[in-house]
Amino acid sequence: MKEVLFRLPEAAAQVIGRLNAQGYEAYAVGGCVRDTLLGREPKDWDICTSAEPAEVERAFSDMPSSRIVETGLQHGTVTVVVDHVPYEVTTYRADGVYTDHRHPDSVRFVRSLKEDLARRDFTINAMAYHPEEGLKDFFGGREDLEARVIRCVGAAEKRFDEDALRILRALRFASVYAFNIEEETDRAIRLLYETLSHVASERIWQEVQKLLCGQGVREILMGYPEVICSIFPELEASVGFLQHNPYHHFTVYEHLARSVAEVPPETVLRLTMLFHDAGKPKAFTVDERGIGHAYGHAEISVKLVASAMERMRVDNRTRDRVLVLVRDHDLPLEENEKMLRRRLAAYGEETLMQLMEVQRADALSKGTFDREHVERAHALRLQKLQELVAQHPCVTLRDLAVNGRDLIDHGIPAGKTVGNVLTALLDRVIAGDLPNEREALLKTASQLTCKGEKNT
Ligand code: ATP
Ligand code: MG
Repeated sequence: MKEVLFRLPEAAAQVIGRLNAQGYEAYAVGGCVRDTLLGREPKDWDICTSAEPAEVERAFSDMPSSRIVETGLQHGTVTVVVDHVPYEVTTYRADGVYTDHRHPDSVRFVRSLKEDLARRDFTINAMAYHPEEGLKDFFGGREDLEARVIRCVGAAEKRFDEDALRILRALRFASVYAFNIEEETDRAIRLLYETLSHVASERIWQEVQKLLCGQGVREILMGYPEVICSIFPELEASVGFLQHNPYHHFTVYEHLARSVAEVPPETVLRLTMLFHDAGKPKAFTVDERGIGHAYGHAEISVKLVASAMERMRVDNRTRDRVLVLVRDHDLPLEENEKMLRRRLAAYGEETLMQLMEVQRADALSKGTFDREHVERAHALRLQKLQELVAQHPCVTLRDLAVNGRDLIDHGIPAGKTVGNVLTALLDRVIAGDLPNEREALLKTASQLTCKGEKNT
């Protein structure tokens, strides 16, 4: 096989060089090697070494412009920060037995690179690299990268039984790189996925986000519905659920899976798509012509996604956005300019754009609309929104050409009335019934207060 050589960042090479100079082995390892071979920019450069943590600390005690953080000494990890960039340096390790399907009961430091690589999850993650020695690949990782395959290091069943999270990591890597899952690995996933219940929900959520944002997400969602439903039982009813509707060719689950892949790869949008129609089976009715409907399904989808997000302890910001997008995924947005202005006022530009992305993806994954047609309609409404935003329309009280002070100076009694009048004015301006101009606003304000006084 051809020799592989690539350049490490200067500081990573320095860390390796310094350990080597003290007589220890050291290599870049794992994700950074995999990503570099794939032609992708690695997120970070992890280093493995034969030196034990105290030896690593000693090796860097007198290196200028570096400092040491004791990250996880019991796991053998020391972080060396060089010029503000952290490098995790981890001692070669072999894992003891696993009894909780997640963590080894003990780890022991070893002096052999091969042993360290053997404990890693997949062949593509079990390669090490040295600036002079080149690639260390004992398990065929490079071949699997070229063949685009996720394969366990060693016996898949044993590896998944040790640590159930690896099951989800397999799906995550397959989704992110659009790789296939090798046969034995695949069989072990299908056999053992229920052990994922032993993994903390927060940890599951971290992997799920990456899985959802992968380029191969549709294939993974379609290929492993039972695994996905063991994580999100809220989706179970959607699997195989036919919609009996001329606008929907696919089962609810397939529609969800396809729609996920049609939005930009961001957690909020992808989770929204995964759940937007999840309430359909529960809301399903058939009319006298035999056509299926799911009136009010969005509200049920909201409940389902809310319970899933609570279980995963999804952060509040993500949660709030997903809830709005799922709830309103079917809302008409821009039948006319007045409506578009109202929507802009209600949601703000960013959320409104996200709603448009959601509706585009929804339409694209029904299997009934022509892609070109959907894309054209989407581009057009984005353009309308952009044009509207460029006019800086008045959509909040802050944009109004008068404020509370102006109204009081104009003779409107201070207190609650001022706020009510301001809101009423804003409403009319948004609706296009009143120009956002001082004179007109003050005149209407007087009229509104007179009427209000007569009414009381
Ligand atoms: P990412 O690009 O998402 O960071 P990564 O491969 O670097 O991917 P990490 O979670 O940072 O993933 O783990 C670093 C390395 O540690 C992996 O490449 C793999 O070799 C090993 N590893 C991580 N998690 C496990 C696990 N659960 N079981 C076995 N090895 C693991
Ligand atoms: Mg990493």
